[in-house]
Amino acid sequence: MRQASPAYSFEFFPPKTEEGISKLTATSRALAAVKPRFFSVTFGAGGSTRDLTFGTVIELQKSSGIITAPHLSCISSTRENIREMLHGYRDKGINHIVALRGDMPSGMGEAGEFRYANELVTFIREETGEHFHIEVAAYPEYHPQATSPDKDLENFKRKVDAGASSAITQYFYNPDAYFRFIDRCMSVNIDIDIVPGIMPITNYFQLARFSDACGAEIPRWIRKRLEAYGENLESIRAFGEEVVTSLCKELLDKGAPGLHFYTLNRAEPVLAIWNNLGLATSQQN
Ligand code: FAD
Repeated sequence: MRQASPAYSFEFFPPKTEEGISKLTATSRALAAVKPRFFSVTFGAGGSTRDLTFGTVIELQKSSGIITAPHLSCISSTRENIREMLHGYRDKGINHIVALRGDMPSGMGEAGEFRYANELVTFIREETGEHFHIEVAAYPEYHPQATSPDKDLENFKRKVDAGASSAITQYFYNPDAYFRFIDRCMSVNIDIDIVPGIMPITNYFQLARFSDACGAEIPRWIRKRLEAYGENLESIRAFGEEVVTSLCKELLDKGAPGLHFYTLNRAEPVLAIWNNLGLATSQQN
């Protein structure tokens, strides 16, 4: 079902150390205050954080009162352990999930029993009916392994037809890529909310590495400016904030159904954009 008002959400990774846990506690507290529609917690490549993700999701939802969605991926998972996780989450009052194929960490062998995210979505619906709101991933600049843009769209539609409730995109910095993707989705009768994924810019080298790996393009004019700042983190932060704020503004002004922030467990870059957008007093309930 489509949302009547923009849906805002914040993504975290499950921390592995005491220090990381304290940081996430502070971050989630700061972000809960703006009343997002939900939080989500990633699932480490290859299923490496299965238990950590579970524990973090349960703790976050309990401590913040914000709906918290686990990411779940097919890589190195069997039907049996996915079934177990689904029932475990359901029993703990979790009703929102992000269903993914996942990526294979280098050097790792087995893909798992489900090959693609559409098979996972089908399984979740078979196993738990309508209990979960299921998010899936979408790629306005196309998935790096897609054999063609048309095939990628067909594959995205398989996930929707299998029962996905809404989608979150890979991050991008070119709003045209998003709006063209939405037009193409409408042309094949995909009628779910597709919420743009937003990656704040705070560190150029880390961003360049992520972007190479996931196929997100950093436009040349942004790359050149960031490169020119070198080690000047303050300038990178200020420029990044300006670029991402204006991206978000354009997306919302032209009808995007919300924003999903990849927080990397940091509140400040997200809140700076949030305040620039004048969303400070927005009520999401
Ligand atoms: P799919 O939808 O299965 O697509 C993968 C590729 O296969 C695409 O090229 C597609 O065109 C093709 N394909 C799909 N279905 C078929 C089919 N039936 N037949 C033939 N080809 C097909 N990764 C993690 O490991 N953990 C996370 O927590 C995580 N969170 C993410 C959150 C978001 C919002 C996004 C956008 C990505 C996230 N990822 C995460 C990354 C994601 O797992 C990778 O991008 C992965 O490579 C693809 O996952 P998917 O669910 O989009 O796969």
